[in-house]
Amino acid sequence: MMFSNVVLGIAKDRFEELIDATRTSLGVRTDAEIDAASWKALTDRFKAIVREHGKEFPQDVHTQLYAAIEAVFESWHSKRAVDYRRYNKIPDDWGTAVNVMEMVFGNMGDDSGTGVAFTRDPNTGERVLFGEYLTNAQGEDVVAGIRTPEKISDLKRIAPKVYTQFEEIATRLERHYRDVQDLEFTVERGKLFMLQTRNAKRTAEAAVKIARDLVEEGLIDKRRAVSMVNAQSLDQLFHARIDPSQSVAVACKGLNAAPGAAAGMIVFTADEAVTWREQGRKTILVRTETTPDDVHGMIAAEGVLTQKGGATSHAAVVARGMGKPCVAGCEAMRIDLRNKRATFGERELREGDWVTIDGTTGNVFIGELGLIAPPSQLPDWLATFLSWADELRRMQVWANADTPEDAAKAREVGAQGIGLCRTEHMFMQPDRLPIVHEMILATSVDERAKALEKLLPFQRDDFSGILEVMQGLPVTIRLLDPPLHEFLPSLEELLVETTELRLTKGVESAEYRQKEAMLRRVQQLHEQNPMLGLRVCRLGIVYPEIYAMQVRAIFEAACELRRRGVDARPDVMIPGVGTKEEMQTTREAAKRVADEIIKQQNVEVPYRIGTMVELPRACIVADELAVDAEFFSFGTNDLTQTTYGYSRDDAEASFIPVYLDKRILKEDPFQVLDRHGVGTLMQQAVTLGRGARPGLKIGICGEHGGEPSSIAFCDNLGLDYVSCSPYRVPIARLAAAQSAIGVIK
Ligand code: PEP
Ligand code: MG
Repeated sequence: MMFSNVVLGIAKDRFEELIDATRTSLGVRTDAEIDAASWKALTDRFKAIVREHGKEFPQDVHTQLYAAIEAVFESWHSKRAVDYRRYNKIPDDWGTAVNVMEMVFGNMGDDSGTGVAFTRDPNTGERVLFGEYLTNAQGEDVVAGIRTPEKISDLKRIAPKVYTQFEEIATRLERHYRDVQDLEFTVERGKLFMLQTRNAKRTAEAAVKIARDLVEEGLIDKRRAVSMVNAQSLDQLFHARIDPSQSVAVACKGLNAAPGAAAGMIVFTADEAVTWREQGRKTILVRTETTPDDVHGMIAAEGVLTQKGGATSHAAVVARGMGKPCVAGCEAMRIDLRNKRATFGERELREGDWVTIDGTTGNVFIGELGLIAPPSQLPDWLATFLSWADELRRMQVWANADTPEDAAKAREVGAQGIGLCRTEHMFMQPDRLPIVHEMILATSVDERAKALEKLLPFQRDDFSGILEVMQGLPVTIRLLDPPLHEFLPSLEELLVETTELRLTKGVESAEYRQKEAMLRRVQQLHEQNPMLGLRVCRLGIVYPEIYAMQVRAIFEAACELRRRGVDARPDVMIPGVGTKEEMQTTREAAKRVADEIIKQQNVEVPYRIGTMVELPRACIVADELAVDAEFFSFGTNDLTQTTYGYSRDDAEASFIPVYLDKRILKEDPFQVLDRHGVGTLMQQAVTLGRGARPGLKIGICGEHGGEPSSIAFCDNLGLDYVSCSPYRVPIARLAAAQSAIGVIK
């Protein structure tokens, strides 16, 4: 059966059915109980199945052997192998090898058997032999799961001598390879044969604990321990997971935009997520795509599911920052917002129906699945292990954080500064949004100034909270970045609402007039290419009073904290600068306000004004920018978008999967930094920037700052720090160390 399946490519089902039927007619439970005559009859029927497939089962052993060898080589190209390599980032051109060994038989009676064992528990890392044994059986029987195997410890009772010998061999192999081994063995008439040993796959928790234990046992040094754990795998430790004991079909699949699992009742608007939360109900916010306007809903919901958008779309970036699971770009889902319904494949769900999303895999399930919660703090075993990584790394690790809570989380996991505080998220809180609307709808500078005056105390409190949590460490605060329309309701929704109000309340009604004014402003602000429109520093140049208010808030907060003895260290970051004039203008404006407040309040505040480098032109004229910029931070989300000319909000749900499939792209450049293109621009920016301003502090705060291979690239470029979401800080600490010792390049 196995030969027919693996070598001749015939599905197993028909063979299995025949074996099942034979077991039933003989009244036995296991294959080992089927008598020789019945096997003989079965073999004839197996051959007939092969013939039905237009093949003849080869009888010559050499033909069989060569066909088997070829099948192993062929398996390199199987879909399963290709998917596995893609997931584990194994190059396609490595190829595979074949070992030919003499067979031993575990099904020669009760003094025979077969087993699989790990030298330590691969789930927990505990130092115990872990595995299974089946008496009178072949290896396939363990995998097939027809009989429940005994625990490996039972072998001690069944065959004590074999067990002792196996234990000795296991220990010897572990010491030899200085790593946990995954062993396969067969016992043939009381004699132990080792079939295979390899380094064991393990959970992230086990990997860290094993590495730590091997150091304590004197088997390896700390450097090797640090090299043994896959940095990306640490991701598993900080997110809820779906309890794997449940088997539920996937309803549809999107992009794995922010890891972790969450279950909740579906709601279709951010406001509903907030209301439901207030009523103590868990929700999943389901949106076509999210805008900063949805942030309050994202805070209230357990997780986010969007039909459009990729891994650097707003939903993904914000969710990741909050540590909330997000499945984005779930194209198979259809949303009927008006009737509050969504279809997932065949199934239609209404508001309030339960779904479970897995942002680690991108899977969406209907119903409420059981989850396994993550630890709330960095456990001791991980803290110790990461401290070994810290001893080895050169590059610092900072975090992207927008709130005091996130900043506290960042510190807790070892961040050495805040590399990006996105101030737009502060504008999104429900108590501020109306004032932000007032500011945007203002028709004169005076009117706008009044609204900004009202926003000032909110911003001051935000900055004060973050600077206080991070005292002694740098906090890089980015001035407002997104196009203003992102703070307003969507054009489509407004069109529907104004039409409805006109019909129901009339054009003279206050409600209509108010809505219509909003609609007009949204239409005015509407841009075909908002990512390339009135955003980043362009916004601060067109509306200088917005940046002035933010800088005022930063320095009023810093002065007040310093007066209280808190070591506040704000750095002001100007987004999206592409010309030296933009840099000069925004820097001068920010410096004027900062110095005025410092002078007024008569408190020393150490600060720097720098820029994000997120446009190709910025890289090309980095020497000119460095004249005024006191630090650079690579915004590689936008730099990738503008270098490739791929929309960061659309590409991943649109053509990137096809590009990956056709190998036009080897990696998604929004997830793994494109060294050749974007990286060359970065290299140039580093060289030019430091040429103009020796010792210029340079970091990265795009999503790539938390991805191991991109981190290694930044280390090699000589960046001072990487900055990433707090939950990725442990990954970055380990990856920076692995880069320093050459484990990842
Ligand atoms: C970037 O562009 O890489 C960045 C960090 O800024 P944002 O994602 O907010 O545009
Ligand atoms: Mg950006």
